[in-house]
Amino acid sequence: MSSYPARAVVDLAAIRSNVRSLAAHAPTAQVMAVVKADAYGHGLVPAATAAVAGGAAWLGAAQVPEALALRAAGIVGPRILTWLYAPGAPLREAIEADVDLSVATPWALGEVVAAARAAGRTARIHLKVDTGLGRNGLNATDYAALLPDALRAEAEGAVRLVGVWSHLAFADEPGHAVVRDQEVAFAAAVQLAEDAGARLEVRHLANSAATLTNPSIHYDLVRPGIAVYGLSPVPQLGGPDDFGLVPAMALEAPLVNVKAWPAGAGMSYAHQYVTERDTVLGVVPLGYADGVPRHASGTQSAPGGPLFVGGRWLGVAGRVCMDQVVVDLGPGATEQAGDRVVLFGTGADGGPTAQDWARAAGTISYEIVTRIGPRVPRVHIDTQADSEEQQ
Ligand SMILES: *Cc1c(COP(=O)(O)O)cnc(C)c1O
Repeated sequence: MSSYPARAVVDLAAIRSNVRSLAAHAPTAQVMAVVKADAYGHGLVPAATAAVAGGAAWLGAAQVPEALALRAAGIVGPRILTWLYAPGAPLREAIEADVDLSVATPWALGEVVAAARAAGRTARIHLKVDTGLGRNGLNATDYAALLPDALRAEAEGAVRLVGVWSHLAFADEPGHAVVRDQEVAFAAAVQLAEDAGARLEVRHLANSAATLTNPSIHYDLVRPGIAVYGLSPVPQLGGPDDFGLVPAMALEAPLVNVKAWPAGAGMSYAHQYVTERDTVLGVVPLGYADGVPRHASGTQSAPGGPLFVGGRWLGVAGRVCMDQVVVDLGPGATEQAGDRVVLFGTGADGGPTAQDWARAAGTISYEIVTRIGPRVPRVHIDTQADSEEQQ
């Protein structure tokens, strides 16, 4: 095991169980577990393997190297889709590795067709339509113009047009008018493809939020990311419990220094936090280089990001530093160096979750887990390893 003191403990049983819950929310669709960004910080290969064990028939990787890493690790069962690449990307390798490619711009179709010819194989493609997000994807004009080209490339054997897909701008606000507009635009895009003769295997639009809150757009495939890791995409509507999810990651570190600290003394850079009484100061070896947001620094009146110590919910005292944070353990605290501090976990023990850190930092839980730094070891455990669930 690593000698780095902090660790991100990832429970693979939680990932399996979350995928099963998501499949139950979308009984008519297959599940694509989105594992981009090192599986939202949870460790690409172990997390993807657990998601597949939980029933994901597809894996989603934003970038080509992520998709290739999955195949290189021997994950050959599920289909893999990748969707974000620049001109000159290694598309031939992706095709040879049996990775499905999104086509979101006219130049991409040209590169995919050329790569398929070079590989001597048929590339499986999903046309991505921008139905209103205003990000990646074909606008309506380019989509209509590209469809015949894609079908011609299919007739020539260079590609197989397996999917039409899109992404929502307001999935976390299920009642938003733009969601409705995008649903209508997506249905029209699918119709246009089918009328032109496309024989689609999968039409897909739903991310985690839509998987959990909008069954009318599950289509053939849902693409949850954050919910696979047990965090709620719609914290204003419900927490993990409400959706049958369990947060998979716990971030923890031992105290490395515990000492008496007098009243009226500052803690950490710039003394943003000043003690009101004699107290005990603790040092936790995790800082902004490890993904602890500097925005979650604290003062006496506005405690920073939560630190769970000995069953007490405390806050970061003063500035978050690069490698460490300080905690005011309170007068008479009995903690010692080596005692465990939990920044976030499942919340089942009354402790904080990644969502609580998101609130403290003014961001979303996605950013909390994906920004855990590379030097923090990911320790994969399996709390169900010996149970019948595995069989
Ligand atoms: C990241 C991503 C998802 C997953 O989104 P969540 O909100 O994490 O469920 C789905 N589809 C696309 C295109 C994405 O980029």
